[in-house]
Amino acid sequence: MQGKLIIFSAPSGAGKTTIVHHLLNVFPALEFSVSACSRPMRKGETNGVDYYFISVEEFKQKISDEEFVEWEEVYKDNFYGTLKAEIERIWKKGHHIIFDMDVVGGLNLKKQFGEQALSIFVMPPSIKHLESRLQMRETETPESIARRIGKAEVELQTAKQFDTIILNDKLEKAFAEAEKVVREFIK
Ligand code: 5GP
Repeated sequence: MQGKLIIFSAPSGAGKTTIVHHLLNVFPALEFSVSACSRPMRKGETNGVDYYFISVEEFKQKISDEEFVEWEEVYKDNFYGTLKAEIERIWKKGHHIIFDMDVVGGLNLKKQFGEQALSIFVMPPSIKHLESRLQMRETETPESIARRIGKAEVELQTAKQFDTIILNDKLEKAFAEAEKVVREFIK
């Protein structure tokens, strides 16, 4: 069976991963789409759970073998993409798929799947707020923070192109809103 697709996009540090994890706990019918990526694994991440961590060479091979439904070089040499096989794996189990991806990938998937997909933009309260959240991650360097903030400024302009916008000023409120839109979409 073909399930539905629920796409969460936001600038890095807006809290979309926290919201996605919350929804996975609330809705047993949802399963997380594990993306392939070529950046180094961070402390606390698990291969096959957070991402399928592969080398830049392997990633490029999979691009030329047309194994991706969408992919992107989000930052220099940091490739991210959704494997066609991952979507098939989850649908085979009768689950709906939940995605955590950047705005370009999110809009791209929505365009491909239309009504079968719900695209959600998680809006951070401010750029300042994003910056301090990124600084709290021990793994970001000043350069990677500056790069992510630069990209965020552009990404905020795309919010209106999504089906729904969730403002993440208070996490509990954002959780409740996310639950409501997802419940409505998969019922
Ligand atoms: P991070 O390095 O912080 O895990 O992710 C960097 C960005 O890449 C985030 O915005 C994340 O959501 C995005 N991303 C993760 N997986 C994918 C994917 O499969 N495709 C695209 N286009 N972006 C992704």
